[in-house]
Order: sequence, then structure tokens, then C-alpha cells
Amino acid sequence: METKPADKPFIPFFKPSFSEEEENAVLNVIRSGWLTTGKEALAFEKEFADFIGAPEALSVNSASSGLLLALEAFGIGPGTKTVTTPYTFISTATSSLHLGAEIVYCDIEKDSYSIDLERLEDVFKKEKKIKAVVPVHIGGNLCPMEDINACAKRYNAVVIEDAAHAFPAKTKTGFAGTLADAGVFSFYATKTITTGEGGMITLKNPEKAGVIKTLRSNGIDRAVWNRYTEKEASWKYDVTCAGWKCNMPDILAAIGRIQLKKAEAFLERRKMIAGIFNEAFSGYDFLRIPPDSTGNAWHLYLLRIKPEKLLVTRDEFAKELQKEGLGISVHFIPHFDFTFIKKRYGLSRSDFPNAAEKADTTISLPFWPGMNEEEIHYVIDRVTKIGAKYYKKS
Ligand SMILES: *Cc1c(COP(=O)(O)O)cnc(C)c1O
Repeated sequence: METKPADKPFIPFFKPSFSEEEENAVLNVIRSGWLTTGKEALAFEKEFADFIGAPEALSVNSASSGLLLALEAFGIGPGTKTVTTPYTFISTATSSLHLGAEIVYCDIEKDSYSIDLERLEDVFKKEKKIKAVVPVHIGGNLCPMEDINACAKRYNAVVIEDAAHAFPAKTKTGFAGTLADAGVFSFYATKTITTGEGGMITLKNPEKAGVIKTLRSNGIDRAVWNRYTEKEASWKYDVTCAGWKCNMPDILAAIGRIQLKKAEAFLERRKMIAGIFNEAFSGYDFLRIPPDSTGNAWHLYLLRIKPEKLLVTRDEFAKELQKEGLGISVHFIPHFDFTFIKKRYGLSRSDFPNAAEKADTTISLPFWPGMNEEEIHYVIDRVTKIGAKYYKKS
């Protein structure tokens, strides 16, 4: 790193790991003259499905769109309710709201960011009309899917994994995205593999694939991507429902295919870096390292501070890290803190003690597969020094 002695280095939150391979893939698509959904998107879907062992994968322009389409395909709409946690990205909830359904919020576990099973059962007992559960694999750490599926089944609800953080996380039973009725992945700019913007819906049972394809292309009931390229292709099509416009263009799919080939190598690097962080931070009683079930995708490094051991709050701690040049982030601002959700549901923080506690103590550190030794150790050094500076001597 070339810095003048007085300058502090800046360690970004994330850097995409791209090479000439992605550049060439994009150029090839541009030169082919076919820019929107076509051969690349179809190949990406096939390769992604094979990778995780899903019978069907459908590319979309974002995970937010993917959630919307998957929920709609499984019958979420007016008169139904979806359960998720307040500790996730906003579109985990707004996808159901756009369909005319309502959200029922359930707290997360005390020791992880997963939906709390006991509370989930209580929510089902209290609320009729729940048709879907959307568990979120926060940071790539998998939720206990067998228990969640069993609970949902007792009440005839479908389970759709918000797997935006979870490629390629896997348990003994299989990869995220194959552990429930459907899974939705994100290829947003900072996710484990990226196409800039993009997403993938995976299905356990291919039955819903046709509906999702129609919903994704403005309600048009057949693939039309060849209608401009093939001589005999028909210009005729029918529209069978009010669909959306959520297809993935080939330029992005071509990037995704290259990223997919690198996914295992990325994960090895992420695991290694997380291991170095874990070892370094475990020695400090004012820090808590992230939960780690088997097969974590390690999308985020979610460090928690213990405010009772420190003279500063999480916000102040985060500010100090930023002053030292760390591109930190916070995952997530809980939904009950947003004006829109507060107004709509009048939620109180005290109804979600575990989410509230984590929302006030978690910081996402700079973390990406290409981080070098110097960057890793600079992060460790700054975090531990700031902690020591504000340590509360009891
Ligand atoms: C990023 C993210 C999404 C949305 O992904 P997009 O591809 O940006 O729409 C959904 N859920 C979670 C948990 C996310 O982090």
C-alpha cells in the first residue's frame, strides 16, 4: 500500500474479485450483439442448478425480484401472511407487502441471527393465515432448516430461503437453496459472487418453474428470447397474467458464470480470513466472534462488541473504526427501526429483545476473498486497539 506516513490506509468494506476472465466474458457478449436474456442466462441457470444440486434455477435481476416472484408463485397474496425476522434486508419483507400480503415478525435466536424456533411456533399458534416462512441465512450462517420446515409443515406453510448471503453454504443434507421449497440468491455488488446486480431462484420441485418464468417476463407465457434471432421464430405470444420485468441480461449472466467457477476458491479464502479474525478476536472479552454452523458461506464477518465491557456504544465504536480507515458496515438496521414499518405495524423494540440486542452490538468488518495479509492485520490491529482504548475497567 502506497501511503504517505501521515496518511491512514483505507480498507474498503468489499472489493469484487474480478479478472480478465470476467472482462472477456462481457466483451464476448457485447460483440455477439445479443445483450438481454439469452444463451448466457440459460447456461448460468443450468450451471448454478448443477452446482447446488437443485432441479431448477431461474435467473432474475435481483434477489428482491426473486423473493417477489417466488412468493407470488407459491400463492402469497391478499389475505395471506408471511413470517420473517426484523433482522434482515428490507426486501425480505416488502416482497410480500407488494403482493398484498402482510408480514408477521418473529424474533431471532439469542445466540445466532436465525429465526427463533420456539417463537416461530408461537407465531403460528397465534396468527392464522400464515402461508409462508422466509428464514434468512444471515452472513451465510445457515438456519436450522429441518426444524423450520417441520414447523411450517405442521401449519401448511411454504418455506422460502432468503439465501442472499448463502452461496455456497451447505449442510450434510445439501446446499442452501435446496433446503426448502425455494431459495433466493443475490449477486448484488458485495455478495459472495457478484454480477453487479442479479439473483437466482432455486426450486426443490420444478413444478413452479413455468409460473415463475411467466411472471419474470411480463406475463408472457413462453420464452421469447429467440424471437428476433431465428428466421422462423414466431412473433406471436400470449399474456396470461400481470407479470413483472425481472429477467437477467446476458452481460450479467456471463459475469456470473465466471464468478461461479471461482466460488469454491473464494469460499476457501473467506474461511481462512474468518479463521484469522476469529483467532485474533477470541482473546478479547469485549468482543464476540460470529456464530458459525457447519457449511457457513462466510458472506459477512459479523463482529459483536459487548457494550457492558466498553465505555462506547456500537455507533461510537463504528465511528472510531471509520476514522482509522476501516470501511465497516452494519447488517442490519432492524425493520422495527424504520419509519415505514413502525407506522405500518407499530412495533416495539421490546417485542424483539434478541434482534434489538444484536442490532445494537454488531459491526460488519471489511471482508472479501482478495484481502491481503497487511489489510487483514490492519483491521485486527485497529479493532483491538480501539477496544483496549475504551475498555471499561471494573
Ligand atoms: C442483499 C439482500 C437481499 C436483496 O438482494 P438484491 O439482489 O440486492 O435485491 C435480500 N435479502 C438479504 C438478506 C440481503 O442481504
